[in-house]
Amino acid sequence: MFAHRPLRRLAIRVSWTSSSSLLLLLAISGLAILALVFLATVWAGKESDAAALDRQRSLVNSRLQDQVRRVSQDIQLMGAGFTSLQVADSASAAAGRAGVSSTEAFGKIATTVFGYNAAFLVTAHGELALQSDAETARRFRWVRPLLQPMISDLEATQSSGSHLSNDDEKPSRVELMRLEGRPSIAGVIAVAGSAPVDGAKISDAKRLYLVAFRFLDGATLDMLSREQGLARARYARTADQEHNEVAFQIEATATGEPIGFIIWTPDLPGSRVIGRLVPVLSVAGLVIAVLFFALMARLRLSLSRLSASEYNARHLSLHDVLTGLPNRAMFATRFQQCLGDLKLSGGSAVLALIDLDKFKDVNDSYGHPAGDELLRGVVARMNALIGASDTLARLGGDEFALILAGANEADGGHIVLCNKIIEALSKPFELRGGDTTVRIGCSIGIVSFNKTSDGESEIFRRADVALYEAKSSGRGCLKEYQASLDHRVEARESLKKDLRLVLQDREFGLDETEAFHFHDAGHLEVFFQGVHPASDWDRLTGAEALVRWRHPVHGLLSPDRFIPIAEEADMMDQLGEWVLRNAALAAASWPPEMLLAVNVSPSQLRHRGFDNRVLSVLSEAGLTPSRLELELTEAAFFDIDEQAQATLGRLRDHGVQIVLDDFGTGFSSLSHLIHLNIDRIKIDRSFVSLLGTKAEGAAIVSAILGLSRTLGKATTAEGVETEGQRDFLIAAGCHDLQGFLLSRPVPSVEFSASILLADKKPVAGR
Ligand code: C2E
Ligand code: CA
Ligand code: CA
Repeated sequence: MFAHRPLRRLAIRVSWTSSSSLLLLLAISGLAILALVFLATVWAGKESDAAALDRQRSLVNSRLQDQVRRVSQDIQLMGAGFTSLQVADSASAAAGRAGVSSTEAFGKIATTVFGYNAAFLVTAHGELALQSDAETARRFRWVRPLLQPMISDLEATQSSGSHLSNDDEKPSRVELMRLEGRPSIAGVIAVAGSAPVDGAKISDAKRLYLVAFRFLDGATLDMLSREQGLARARYARTADQEHNEVAFQIEATATGEPIGFIIWTPDLPGSRVIGRLVPVLSVAGLVIAVLFFALMARLRLSLSRLSASEYNARHLSLHDVLTGLPNRAMFATRFQQCLGDLKLSGGSAVLALIDLDKFKDVNDSYGHPAGDELLRGVVARMNALIGASDTLARLGGDEFALILAGANEADGGHIVLCNKIIEALSKPFELRGGDTTVRIGCSIGIVSFNKTSDGESEIFRRADVALYEAKSSGRGCLKEYQASLDHRVEARESLKKDLRLVLQDREFGLDETEAFHFHDAGHLEVFFQGVHPASDWDRLTGAEALVRWRHPVHGLLSPDRFIPIAEEADMMDQLGEWVLRNAALAAASWPPEMLLAVNVSPSQLRHRGFDNRVLSVLSEAGLTPSRLELELTEAAFFDIDEQAQATLGRLRDHGVQIVLDDFGTGFSSLSHLIHLNIDRIKIDRSFVSLLGTKAEGAAIVSAILGLSRTLGKATTAEGVETEGQRDFLIAAGCHDLQGFLLSRPVPSVEFSASILLADKKPVAGR
């Protein structure tokens, strides 16, 4: 798993960079679009501002021109008015009436009716044509130099007669100029004035001129700004506008010199639009930035979640869920890694295969939750012993593998460790909150390897061979692989082949003499061991059929040698049936009271129609079902399902008796004992052997006997070897005895002969 970690990190980094750069690209694109919109708006705004400004300027200009035109018209009207006033004056004078002077009237009309700031009647020489008050005279003196060129110009036109082209209009001049320090429009018109009006002063000039002017600032500017919608319009002598104002330069008509500025705050629609758009764009930009960061954070979060779930999935795919240990897949990786390391750096390592003994019994007796609890307990004990560099993996069920990476074959440290594991696992385990205590154990097969060793599968095979050896040599032990073990495996394989041959012959009903083989595999035989009544152990109540294999090479093989092979190779069914048939045939010739006990494997029971086969074999042999006892070990009972239990029930209904064999070796539980449909309990010989050797032996055997008595079951003690054992069992109330002391297993013929020869009277009805 550790080897995958950098890979995982790399994958996450790659997806992080690709996703984040995509997001970044999106964010940049968004911002770029915003920037483009902004620039376009600014450009359009500036353009429209410039257009608006031009428009405003030209409007101001045209308004100014309007004003000038108005003054032209006004001055004409004033000129005409003045002339008619003069005519009236002359008439009044001629009639001897005193009227209002036309000059006074003119002044009033100009300032009040036409709204001019000042009006004068002057001679062609530029002098006031009438006596005025001091104020008027002072004002005129002040403006006279500025107005004089206009008058002179008009005078010159008049004299040249060029004005005669238009009879209706009197010659006049209108100009923009600065008067009294203020921008003004001044108008001058020639009026007829051949005679002095009031006689106060007689001028040389023949003509008189009306002069009137109006300031452009003040009321006129107010009107202008009102009409044109100029915001905060003001007049200034110099262009001192603020940055947000514009100045329109008023030029003197005559000289073209600036006479002042109209300053106002222009209406700039473009800037207004920009001003409104900027907050909108800023908000949009901000939203994009916030979205970007939020998405980045989200991305980071989901990537880390993804990596966590990926890590979990990977962990699950490489680990055993129950114990958290590496599983078979990860074990394979570590194993390869270890071999790779050895190839690089040399040294040696050890592979240990660990198989729990009797684990299945715990599972069967107490259920899977208890089995799971036990496995966790087993792993905890092993983990406490192994080092950090070692790999403990669960290969399945109750099989474990341990790689001791740095183990050195010579120092034997691995042997010490494996023995510690065996010792640790042989101690009792408390399950179900302390309600149940179980004892299991383990067998370990180990193999050392280095860079010169053959491939993984060969190393594993060797460890497996060693484990098999450990298991077959009584369990709870450790075996190291040696080449000689291979021979045993070969021998076992060869036995398997032979057994198949032997059973084939049986199947086709061939006799030893009829069967032809290139190599002789020998034949099976049924031995019988007598079962004796405790009350009269000299006699027989029956016999147990014990299979033997007379092998041409290996001699007489005991069932312990080949029954496991038959189980392994799925041949137990055939073998069992062969024993039953031959035993029944033999028993049929025994005295009718004698019982026949036959051992049955769970695999036989699982076979559908087992009951019918048994019954048909019995009828073929001519043995009544009530004379048959089927012996099943405790483990076998727990190994069968309800269907097999029903099969046993049907056989029992036909009178076949069911015996619980090897009682005490499994996980004898009282509840099981009560619920099982059994007729007899056989006390295992390991308990019987305790009698006379260990103090607790007597107590255990007495307890078992008491229990079966209470449950109403018959009892047989097996493995009775000493007189002391025999006497104790008799005294303790055991029903039947079996053991070398009383009789040994002997071939069928010998057993039958012994019945006749010894004239031992069998005891009927055990
Ligand atoms: P088991 O059913 O417990 O059979 C009794 C075993 O104890 C026999 O070993 C017998 O020879 C041995 N024995 C009898 N008296 C004594 C004694 O006083 N001391 C000692 N130490 N041993 C004694 P065997 O014949 O080697 O059978 C071994 C096991 O093989 C049997 O144990 C039984 O489980 C199995 N077996 C034998 N025949 C068959 C068979 O036909 N079918 C099946 N399924 N299993 C069989
Ligand atoms: Ca038996
Ligand atoms: Ca037994």
